[in-house]
Amino acid sequence: MPQTGGGAEGPFKILGHGGMVRKPRPEWLKVRLPHGEGYFNLKRLVRAQRLNTVCEDARCPNIGECWEAGTATFMILGDVCTRACKFCAVKTGRPAEYDLDEPQRVAAAIQKLDLKYAVITSVDRDDLEDGGAYVFAQTIRKTRACCPGIRIEVLIPDFQGSVEALRTVVEARPDVLAHNVETVPRLYPIARAGSRYARSLRHLKDAKSFGIEITTKSSVMAGLGERRDELLEVMNDLREHDVDILTLGQYLQPTKRHLPVDCYYTPQEFTDLREYALSLGFRHVEAGPLVRSSYHAEKQAGGACHDSIAARASRP
Ligand code: SF4
Repeated sequence: MPQTGGGAEGPFKILGHGGMVRKPRPEWLKVRLPHGEGYFNLKRLVRAQRLNTVCEDARCPNIGECWEAGTATFMILGDVCTRACKFCAVKTGRPAEYDLDEPQRVAAAIQKLDLKYAVITSVDRDDLEDGGAYVFAQTIRKTRACCPGIRIEVLIPDFQGSVEALRTVVEARPDVLAHNVETVPRLYPIARAGSRYARSLRHLKDAKSFGIEITTKSSVMAGLGERRDELLEVMNDLREHDVDILTLGQYLQPTKRHLPVDCYYTPQEFTDLREYALSLGFRHVEAGPLVRSSYHAEKQAGGACHDSIAARASRP
């Protein structure tokens, strides 16, 4: 499930005769290798607490920048995903037994980092009856207990459409609930075979059906082979399902085993797409070559989740 593709080895282009040539990565996608004290401090903390991050497991190109700035996206419920999306570098297979102490360790790490805004995601756990919803809720509660005033964003799986599992997470009151549609519906069979586009849209809409103020968010990758009109249609669908925040970034092939990059969008094309999305009424849109669901998440949520924060503050 985690999120928009990373990109250590791509991109490659498949030729008609079956060979492959490396397409040079455009200038605007070049990032500096991780370095700096902040990066290594965070790495040590993650190891010491035996935690997983989507930053590492999905080979996010922003890891140097985010970790140096002291932000990371924690990945709960282990590091093995029960689905096998063709754009995602997270390990897939049969997960080991779940470690019940993980929510507390995530909370302790967030406290130690003194984060004001935390992003928590997970692998897909279709093997668990509730898809891991209870563990999400526990992680939110333990983090709030350790870090008063913190804002929490969760990036959740589709829980195979379980409304009860979704309710479990929403009732733990994250500030932002994200669920990524990732790509256009036509590409689901090749890119996200275990997922359903309509189910993901419904999930996002259902999150607002429990009488609890919540900001919703979704992310889409560009460059997997979609047409521009299909991308615009996805934005329309998300707005029709009352999604508040949209992020849009370039797909990067994480390894040779993953789907190749179909094309690179230019920074100007991302700007144009952002303008279009804003015209649809999203409260915040982040679009750019290196944008990922959790990239600058605090800034994205800044204005957009004002209402839900105010609602939470006024609760007894
Ligand atoms: S963009 Fe998100 S996943 Fe990537 S390094 Fe930053 S926090 Fe981690």
